[in-house]
Amino acid sequence: MPGKELSKQQLHKLLIESLDDAVKKHSKPGQVPLELQLTSPLPSKLRLYLYNVSSFREGDCKINVRLPDHREGNKYAPPDRGEDFLVVLGGYDEKYDVFAFWDDTLYDEYREVQLLTLKETTLKRGSVEGIATQFRDGGKGGETVIVADNSHLSEALRMRERLVQIRELLNDFLPPEWRDNSKQGQIIEHVVYAFLEKTDPDQPTHERRESAQEFIAAEQAVEIQAIQEMTGSQLWKEPGKEGYHREYFDPVLNAIESVWKSAGDQLKPTLDDILAETTVPELLDNLGTDSPERRTTVQDQIQRNQQLVDALKALYDHQCQVCNRRLQQRNGDGYSEVHHVRPLGDPHTGPDKQSNMLVLCPNHHADFDNGMIIIEPSTHEITHLYDERYTGKQLETTGWHELDNEHLEYHNTEICGFG
Ligand SMILES: [Zn+2]
Repeated sequence: MPGKELSKQQLHKLLIESLDDAVKKHSKPGQVPLELQLTSPLPSKLRLYLYNVSSFREGDCKINVRLPDHREGNKYAPPDRGEDFLVVLGGYDEKYDVFAFWDDTLYDEYREVQLLTLKETTLKRGSVEGIATQFRDGGKGGETVIVADNSHLSEALRMRERLVQIRELLNDFLPPEWRDNSKQGQIIEHVVYAFLEKTDPDQPTHERRESAQEFIAAEQAVEIQAIQEMTGSQLWKEPGKEGYHREYFDPVLNAIESVWKSAGDQLKPTLDDILAETTVPELLDNLGTDSPERRTTVQDQIQRNQQLVDALKALYDHQCQVCNRRLQQRNGDGYSEVHHVRPLGDPHTGPDKQSNMLVLCPNHHADFDNGMIIIEPSTHEITHLYDERYTGKQLETTGWHELDNEHLEYHNTEICGFG
């Protein structure tokens, strides 16, 4: 049974004190919601609705969500989600001395008497292990509740934000059914989280992905094969393809990491804003530019376009879209080049966008520049003017990368002199 109830002011003070140096600024304790500005890498702006955890049924606990709008007599109300705050609904449990955080992004609004539940065993695990997570059916497609003691509060809030960001990215990278089965959705999100946060970025992707899958298998006490199925054939549902296929999920991991990294440091606020409401192709197009006049500063633009180029190379894991070859560098990294289908400079003035880009090996990059490769715009069939091996093959495309056929037509007529 949970312990005694604290006032809003006590709850807020406790949380602020526990976060200690990570708090740059906070609103007045006791005032709902509590707003915090936190230091990096924590969510920069956090809006918290905090409640006491109380007992519910046998083995279950809950918070009663009651928002300011409910007090005005509204039966349904959303929390205040304005101004780029990460909104979190949280609870404090006095008995185990832990905080619990639910995922607000899964709910449009809350009923006047809305219970958000969690298992008492998760509270207990949180108090013993410092941080614990629990999957829960609820919201759209299930959610992860995070429980943490005072010394793991920062980690828990960072995880809360990252899981939200990961879900937004996965929505763009994976087949639409990926969250139809809530357990599967939760597992995928956690594998991506573990990949980004708990594996060594210097190791090859497939090894890191395996460690992430092993980590989640151990955490969930299931066989690794089950985790691999959820990130493999079960997810992509391709006839005749059983088990795990590197070429599907691994490039997604690379692409997410690439967007992730580029969202770091000084560009973070801008990218977070974009991530909140756009799809990945749009995001990547936003990184590029239609017209040079729209540039803010040259430095800024170069940096943004480099992110786009890096994201695209990561998506293909440096494999050439014509021949699938992947060149390597001494440090084990892949090597590829990005070609603009409709060239950037005068007189072509092509856009610096993903829809105008190809990932190529140096040979095929030169062949494109020299007009030796023609791509049929509607079918993407290749005609190679001196190397028959590639004629009749299809240009490979994957994930969120969508070529604009008009640029291919331009290439065929203007660069190759065809049609
Ligand atoms: Zn090639």
